[in-house]
Amino acid sequence: MTRRLSREKLVIATHNSGKLKEISALLAPYGVDCVSAAELGLPEPAETGITFIENALIKARAAAKAANLPALADDSGLSVTALGGRPGVYTADWAERQWFENEAAKKNAGGRDWYMAMGKVEGMLCGIGAHVDRSCWFSCVLAIAWPDGDSATYEGRADGTFSWPPRGEKGFGYDPVFVPSGRDLTFAEIDPEEKHAISHRADAFAKLVAEQFGS
Ligand code: IMP
Repeated sequence: MTRRLSREKLVIATHNSGKLKEISALLAPYGVDCVSAAELGLPEPAETGITFIENALIKARAAAKAANLPALADDSGLSVTALGGRPGVYTADWAERQWFENEAAKKNAGGRDWYMAMGKVEGMLCGIGAHVDRSCWFSCVLAIAWPDGDSATYEGRADGTFSWPPRGEKGFGYDPVFVPSGRDLTFAEIDPEEKHAISHRADAFAKLVAEQFGS
């Protein structure tokens, strides 16, 4: 039987403020006492895995060990059908930019340029042809690790279409180009509550909640 979280503090092992906000909101109804890895000053481990599960476990295990508390990490990304599933686990890497106008611009972007990353996907799709399959999906793996090495993982997915140009100001990362199946608006145009109900992270969370907090 899978181990369950007790009511002790849970470290949210992410330094991404967009993810931290979403994860905290999703955990709020369960009275979990959350603290972020950034607040504890924990280092970010290198994401050397080649699957979402491996990377989520690397992050959760590193935080659990360093903080001596259970830790929850997420690894997520966008996979595009016509690109053979890329960028996938390398979604964040596609946004790495070496050059910024100045230090303020670099700090503001966290060293990443999402518009450039989204443009890279669009450029590759255009290179394939006008009638290219634009279907894509977001994946999310949530991993819980305990300081003694025990762990549990939950996988979620949201299907949709890669839409160009980017639209919307809400959300983060690739939200402005992702139109979830059955909708017309991108993840960055809909309200966060609506995104939380249908996202890949929500799907993984539903599985986590059923096992960790269900009766
Ligand atoms: P990682 O999980 O930290 O490796 O980062 C994966 C990247 O995928 C994030 O930094 C985002 O850019 C992108 N991503 C993951 N989930 C979402 C989402 O819900 N909306 C938009 N982009 C996302």
